[in-house]
Amino acid sequence: MSQHILILAGDGIGPEIMAAAEKVLNRVNDKFALDFTWSHGLLGGSAIDAHGVPLPDVTLDAAKKADAVLLGAVGGPKWDAIERSIRPERGLLKIRSELNLFANLRPAILYPQLADASSLKPEIVAGLDILIVRELTGGIYFGQPRGIRVLENGEKQGFNTDVYSESEIKRIAKVAFDMAALRGGKVCSIDKANVLEVTELWKQTVTDLAAAEYPEIKLSHMYVDNAAMQLVKNPKQFDVLVTGNLFGDILSDEAAMLTGSIGMLPSASLDANGKGMYEPCHGSAPDIAGQDLANPLATILSVAMMLRYTFKQEDAAKAIETAVGVVLDQGLRTGDIMSAGMTKIGTQAMGEAVLKALG
Ligand code: NAD
Repeated sequence: MSQHILILAGDGIGPEIMAAAEKVLNRVNDKFALDFTWSHGLLGGSAIDAHGVPLPDVTLDAAKKADAVLLGAVGGPKWDAIERSIRPERGLLKIRSELNLFANLRPAILYPQLADASSLKPEIVAGLDILIVRELTGGIYFGQPRGIRVLENGEKQGFNTDVYSESEIKRIAKVAFDMAALRGGKVCSIDKANVLEVTELWKQTVTDLAAAEYPEIKLSHMYVDNAAMQLVKNPKQFDVLVTGNLFGDILSDEAAMLTGSIGMLPSASLDANGKGMYEPCHGSAPDIAGQDLANPLATILSVAMMLRYTFKQEDAAKAIETAVGVVLDQGLRTGDIMSAGMTKIGTQAMGEAVLKALG
């Protein structure tokens, strides 16, 4: 039976990187006889321009009906000054929450060909392969009450609420344990249990779940401040890290930079049934939009993650990842991963090179 993908190119470099990724999707669809169909929708700034809101009902309906969503990136200076509740990023938060995409998977893999692109010494990062599992629909980004209020003395006060229930913690921990079972068998749970009660419960719940259901997984715990340091000092000690929304947001960007380019990193956000939204880790890069400078590989690798996690098409996923490796071996680089002796190419040429390597 045919499976449907909703493509949301978004804003800034979104349309450029998505054009390259769509060609790759088309090629694997033919090559592996996958019988996928896809359609396009608006999210973020482009949706605000067309419909006045960042997540129009028509997009949300299409996303709910689709088997997977492939997203570019949203946002840009054009929409920075509009009212907070309808900014592009709100559309992103809402679609994640409406689709119940509670598990965000962000691999930080350093391709050996790019070891020089990292700001860390090659011996510290070469061969890096870690996976950050971030809870995406709870915690302080969604907790109520929230707001900015005026105190009796006239001073303004901003406030947010960090909140996690046991069931929310368990379901994200399960994802982390299941992923670890397919990889190195280690999970490090990140918290700030010495200060925050919400993460004290997090730590206890993860520990109990591991003891009850995952005795084969080697579970450790780390405070978030230490984790931030350890990621820079000795990142290869980690296999899978699991953490809440706020800590995960920050640590996954830090881990991304270990690899030298955010332009290389895909991500997946999954619901409880494996339906997912797949997107590069980076934003809409307005500074380079429309100039054929963006690296499309993170989006192309997001297609590979979609094939692997939602559609269980491991061969097709591997074929894309191998093709990316071939292109890097050929010395082809976009500006963000450029180094001496390599050949600098643009977004479109990088996409074409991957297509050629795919055969
Ligand atoms: P960004 O990731 O867009 O850009 C950070 C830096 O990385 C920029 O110098 C940019 O040129 C570069 N960069 C990013 N992706 C690249 C790629 N594929 N190839 C080459 N270089 C790349 O982050 P930002 O500048 O903080 O945010 C820009 C806009 O994107 C903002 O409106 C922000 O809200 C939005 N944003 C969206 C998402 C998303 O859609 N998931 C995520 C983060 C930021």
